[in-house]
Amino acid sequence: MISNLKEMTSNAMSFTEEVTTRWDDRLTGSKACLACGDYLLECFDKFCDSTRMHDFDVRPGAFLGYLRINIVLYFIALICLWLQLVYVAGLFATMIAIIAVCQFFYYKEFVDFLFPKKKGQNIVGNVEPSGEVTQQVIISAHHDSAHVFNFLVKDSDKFAAKVLLNATGQFGIGISTWFLIIGQLLNFSMTIPTYIVAGIFTLLAYSMGSFWFFYSKNGTPGAGDNMVCTAIAMEVAKYFSTQKRKENGLKHTRVIVASWDAEEAGLRGARAYLKSHGEDFKTIPTYNFNLECMYDHTQLAFLTSNLNSFVPLSSEMVEEGMAIAKQLDYEIHAVPFPFLAGGTDAAEFAKQGIEATTLAAMNWVERGNEPAYHTPRDTIESVDAEAVSRSIHIGIEYVLKKERESI
Ligand SMILES: [Zn+2]
Repeated sequence: MISNLKEMTSNAMSFTEEVTTRWDDRLTGSKACLACGDYLLECFDKFCDSTRMHDFDVRPGAFLGYLRINIVLYFIALICLWLQLVYVAGLFATMIAIIAVCQFFYYKEFVDFLFPKKKGQNIVGNVEPSGEVTQQVIISAHHDSAHVFNFLVKDSDKFAAKVLLNATGQFGIGISTWFLIIGQLLNFSMTIPTYIVAGIFTLLAYSMGSFWFFYSKNGTPGAGDNMVCTAIAMEVAKYFSTQKRKENGLKHTRVIVASWDAEEAGLRGARAYLKSHGEDFKTIPTYNFNLECMYDHTQLAFLTSNLNSFVPLSSEMVEEGMAIAKQLDYEIHAVPFPFLAGGTDAAEFAKQGIEATTLAAMNWVERGNEPAYHTPRDTIESVDAEAVSRSIHIGIEYVLKKERESI
């Protein structure tokens, strides 16, 4: 039984309030995000046995910026259709589909080279066990904040429909144009069908164009997504560091606390860290316990998949986490990540063959009225302290379970 869970929760909440007030817009590459990274390193230094700051180059504008490229390509393809230039339209429409699949479905750095380079910073600290290290648990979150999603600020109930309509436009114009091309190749007269297709996609033009304003140039305060999760990860690691000082620490399990940058820029921070330090996680069994979006404890769930559901996460970790939560009498779910919902940093670990899952407290489908997620409402008031408390508890118990198995 953990005696000071209340105190740890209140520490996490007040830390989050302090940091998100001091740096209330932490877009990757901004002065605020870098200053916040420096501060986190100082905080990690107070309880970790070793810490490091990992600098990397990133082009954060690309992650959402691809939308604007695709809007331009869409209108060029549309004009080509009206001009009966079906092959040229097919070329631009195909480019739209390729860019959307690479850049958003799989988070590839496909058009990143078109955007300015910025500096990112990952902050990592180790709490070492007293004996031989036979396994490690990475408790992770991210400290950068998201661009404000204008479509979630107002009329959030229409968000899913707008995204679906946009996806229909981005892929539909390509599929339809290819039918026109095939028709032409088979020597059918395609003049009227081409005008019909052009007409249909002209009807979608307003909706497609509106995505130019999908996101604002400003960042959110990012309290629930995701500073409080960095605070939770710190509390878990701090717990084991305190136990170690009391000579009651872990014997074989290294706890790594990590706060990634550039998660909101397409998981680029965790990816950069794995690129340069990934081997550290492959020599001994390693488990990535990632945290996201602490808004509602009734939605507390382990993710079974990630990255638009294309990447499966560790079913073993999910089962273990669920069993721990149930023992603690916490209501918990296991949910696949919805298609078109994006991804979390656990996906980068899973892609490298490292056991990983994400614990989150948010409904990814029903966003409700005036959600905090990716809006200026994402302040400390939107964070659910009960979700924070339960996540700290489950995190600690997960590490203890792994430690028991190692002996
Ligand atoms: Zn996040």
